Amino acid sequence: MKHFLKHKNIVSWVLVSAIVLSILAYRDFNSIRTGLNAKATSLHRLVSQRADQHDAHLTGLSALASANEKPLEGMMLNLSETIRKFYSRIEHVDLIKLDKNNPETVFSTRYSHLAQDDTRAINDAAFASDGRLQIIPASNGYFLVKRSPNSDNARYGLALFINAEKLIENELDFNSNTQIDLKTNSGMTVYSVGQLEATNRFTRNISFSKVLGSRSQPLTLVVTLHLNVTDYIRWQTILPVILFMVLGIVFSQAFLTQRQKTRLAEERALLGEHEARIAQASRINGLGEMASGLAHEITQPLTAILSQSQAGVRLIDARPDDLETLKQVLGNISKQAKRGGDIVQRLRTWTTHSTETIETFDLNSVAEGIRDLTKADLKEKGVTIETTLHSNPLMIQADHVAIEQVIFNLSRNAVDAMEGVESGYLHLSTYIDQQYAIFMVKDNGKGIDEETLQHLFEPFYTTKEKGMGLGLSLCENIINRYNGQIEISNNDGGGVTTLVKLPLKDNGTGQ
Ligand code: ADP
Repeated sequence: MKHFLKHKNIVSWVLVSAIVLSILAYRDFNSIRTGLNAKATSLHRLVSQRADQHDAHLTGLSALASANEKPLEGMMLNLSETIRKFYSRIEHVDLIKLDKNNPETVFSTRYSHLAQDDTRAINDAAFASDGRLQIIPASNGYFLVKRSPNSDNARYGLALFINAEKLIENELDFNSNTQIDLKTNSGMTVYSVGQLEATNRFTRNISFSKVLGSRSQPLTLVVTLHLNVTDYIRWQTILPVILFMVLGIVFSQAFLTQRQKTRLAEERALLGEHEARIAQASRINGLGEMASGLAHEITQPLTAILSQSQAGVRLIDARPDDLETLKQVLGNISKQAKRGGDIVQRLRTWTTHSTETIETFDLNSVAEGIRDLTKADLKEKGVTIETTLHSNPLMIQADHVAIEQVIFNLSRNAVDAMEGVESGYLHLSTYIDQQYAIFMVKDNGKGIDEETLQHLFEPFYTTKEKGMGLGLSLCENIINRYNGQIEISNNDGGGVTTLVKLPLKDNGTGQ
């Protein structure tokens, strides 16, 4: 139970910490996502504005290309150079004379000549245009193509080559685990910067994706951040939680232990009280049987006092001068009166719920007391009693009345068991076994059956019609209190032997 409680406590703390950790991880994860969104939105705004500028450049250049019969090449060149000077992402400007079969480059600001494939691609895009600008993905960027003039009778294809790297260039300080992509609306990647690691169970990718705000270049900007578990479950977060958990476990364990101790102390106090009550009940229970013995005993000194005083009266009549004999008679009377007083005193000690008095005494003295107490009762029931006492005093340390009560209970059980037995025999003996003083109570009664043997020391277990079943549990409690043991077993030849073992005080010397 105790361990279960402690484990339950630890499990609860681990659970609480796991929940706290999850909440903190979720919070960190969200704040990273919010941070990414904020930066990506800024980038999106910047790139959209840049893209929008391309429209204006193309409009200006187109006007120069198709204003006259022949393009105003000189002016176009000037304008192109100016544009390139201020907008370095626009790498070159190309003008193609449209022809279904054989398009020609009219004008190009490239250092090298425009590749044949590019010329054809610009030509085809201009033909395909319905008035809107066309995008031709190329390595490192894209051509933005306008037909010129912007009608079905277009004669030229005008193209700006946009360097995508420069288009998305920014000072937003994205995390090194970020990939930025520019995609066409058909999903084709125009440009990609950064290389994401593959995700696994512990890593996550979070993305921002939005089409540029430019009507002419509806490219999608995708910003993806690769997160390792340590990005959102950080040591700065984990350590305080672990500390919190360890402190929680330590303090609550200490609290539980303290509470258990208090409870145990309370239980012990209650048990002590309970035991005292049982003792009292048992004493009163035994009282009925003891009373007849005592009544018998007390009549002995009373009878003696009566006969001695009658003898005294007769003596005064017959020999009034014989004071010596009269003194003897009076002495006898007072001795008997004292004996009567002792008997009454014993009865009082038994019935009062007195506090225990620990003393060192000879275990043999208990045997003598019991013998006196039970003699009359045994005689009435026809039970023979024999006592075999160890020749030396067996000094033990305990409450004398309590030990006497134990032996009395055991003797009473023995006598009860002899009911119906023809010649009952009760043997009380004392001896030494190693460091123990032993009191043995042996009977030749009906013995104890298997079932009863299992429950002997349980309170309220009895096989007797008028029994309370408290005797043996009380005896065991008392003997254990003085570090002793009580053992009950059936004899081979019938009957029961009970051994009460109590530690000898200083090897029995009593010193
Ligand atoms: P009670 O005497 O009120 O029944 P105890 O606790 O003293 O309560 O004894 C419990 C039971 O143990 C008795 O009812 C009886 O069956 C059995 N018992 C105890 N001592 C003996 C004995 N010497 N011989 C036979 N049975 C015994």
